[in-house]
Amino acid sequence: MEIIKVNKLNKSFGDNHVLNDISFSVNKGDVMAIIGSSGSGKSTLLRCLIDLEKADSGDIIMEGKPLMESGVYTSPQEIRAIIIRMGMVFQHFNLFPHLTVRQNLELAPKVVKKEEPLEMNQRCEAYLNKVGLLDRIDAMPSTLSGGEKQRVAIARALMMNPDILLFDEPTSALDPELTGEVLSVMKNLATEHMTMVVVTHEMSFARDVANKVIFMDSGKILEVGSPKDIFINPKEPRTREFLSSIL
Ligand code: ADP
Ligand code: MG
Repeated sequence: MEIIKVNKLNKSFGDNHVLNDISFSVNKGDVMAIIGSSGSGKSTLLRCLIDLEKADSGDIIMEGKPLMESGVYTSPQEIRAIIIRMGMVFQHFNLFPHLTVRQNLELAPKVVKKEEPLEMNQRCEAYLNKVGLLDRIDAMPSTLSGGEKQRVAIARALMMNPDILLFDEPTSALDPELTGEVLSVMKNLATEHMTMVVVTHEMSFARDVANKVIFMDSGKILEVGSPKDIFINPKEPRTREFLSSIL
């Protein structure tokens, strides 16, 4: 089943054409890595998928339901119903600094889903345990390391039971020694068949965990394939150039 289908998506900021006829699909259980230089449009693409940016034309179909079709957005209620099924993890964690770890995890289920406290508490503990941070449940975000903050952000996204998780450079703001703990949580999610789209500069993650890799360059998808296609037999000279600059 297709979780995301994007067809000829375009987006400009003024006369900066940031996404140029982007088309791809993500099936249930896929781990899709998006790689490419800074400024190639990766974040804008993710932001369009969860309606943090409005695209100009094309189709965005989520689990068979159009967010946008032929450049026309569906109703605000429909949009909310669609994006509630998706979780996003940002480079800078975006935890609420004045709330404890538990309160960060329970806020959206409480406000958006009116979830029962007991069930919410149990799931909160289970997800914190999953990311190895149950002992930090009452901590304030400011007392956590970057790697811990990002693991809390992942647990928080899981609290909404998303059908897909989007990650925008989840380890780019971390000290190198803290990236491993975050990547290992993501790898475990992949093992459990969580559908994920991951913008990353961690080529080892893209190579070893993803089953699909997209290389973006100047707002276009220049190449798409399996990790083997992209990392061992890249077709496009630009892909080769990018990989040799980063590996
Ligand atoms: P990437 O994530 O691949 O580094 P971005 O999607 O952040 O790329 O940016 C792509 C282009 O869009 C860049 O030229 C950037 O300056 C521009 N851009 C991104 N967000 C905005 C915005 N809110 N307003 C104007 N220009 C933007
Ligand atoms: Mg970006």
